[in-house]
Amino acid sequence: MVDHSGIKASEEDLIHQPIRAEITFKFASVPLPEEILVCTLPIWTMGTGTMEYFDEFGPRSKTVVEPQDLDTCCFAMNLQRMQKGTQPMHTLPKGFYCNEFLDLNPLDIQDLLDFQKKYGRITGARKRKPYDEDMHAVLRPEPDGDVFAGARERRHADQLSGIKASQALYDAVPNEEYVDTMLINQLSAVSFREAIATVLDAQAVVKDLLRVQREDLGPMTVLEALSAKEASEYLSIILGKAVPLIQLVTEGAEHKRFYDLIDGVFIQLARGLLNNNAYRTCANPECGRTFTPREMNRRLDTLYCCSACQERAKRLRYVNKHSK
Ligand SMILES: [Zn+2]
Repeated sequence: MVDHSGIKASEEDLIHQPIRAEITFKFASVPLPEEILVCTLPIWTMGTGTMEYFDEFGPRSKTVVEPQDLDTCCFAMNLQRMQKGTQPMHTLPKGFYCNEFLDLNPLDIQDLLDFQKKYGRITGARKRKPYDEDMHAVLRPEPDGDVFAGARERRHADQLSGIKASQALYDAVPNEEYVDTMLINQLSAVSFREAIATVLDAQAVVKDLLRVQREDLGPMTVLEALSAKEASEYLSIILGKAVPLIQLVTEGAEHKRFYDLIDGVFIQLARGLLNNNAYRTCANPECGRTFTPREMNRRLDTLYCCSACQERAKRLRYVNKHSK
């Protein structure tokens, strides 16, 4: 008789074995911008009971998202607060992808809202449609089949149902009543499920790829290498869409391109990996940022992410020494 459980256990063991060969990145030439401009739009939340997630409306009764609100509540643009003409833009901080972005807990709606207000709007893997005469069809969110090609199945399912939920919110707005601002706001709805699934998905991609260049964690396991491979395929698909290989430019004209927040995260991630040095943690005890020296334009042997941290650590050492 074959011992099925025995076979399963040995496969489990195998997948957690360290790999002996060295794993590195090999890049094709992709024109990755160094500075990532992101548009910051006034965003708020809509849906029954959404105020219960925020301190400013009395004591918060919900701290993390409740399952029943995932599909019926959403983040939406607030047209009343929108500026006329060009919207404000900002540059993503250096190392945003492996610090602020990984620190975000998307299940905390108050944090997720503040994050989007500060850094930019989060949408899922939506289809980018060309302009067409039927604006209703152009704006209606639809999942982008290509973008799911490299993602893992469970995350694919989460993202897909998130976008479907946004679609349902969109379809709840009657077509002929575009005059009402509240209804127009609702057309920009990104369901809680869609926004959360997007963040969790992108965070996993960042973590899986950073692992390759974390020398301090020792050799990668087979499972970690497989996850990194999937994540790199997914990253390639996103970059292929976000950064065109051929661009048409007009001489003398300045081209300020801005990016979707998640695309910006992936571009920064690719640039960080391209630097091909190991990630380290800033030795200033008050900072602790993850960085690679090259992306911060620092000496390769530095322990600090920036000169301010180096100075601060020196000062702290001095204070400690003289207070004893
Ligand atoms: Zn630092």
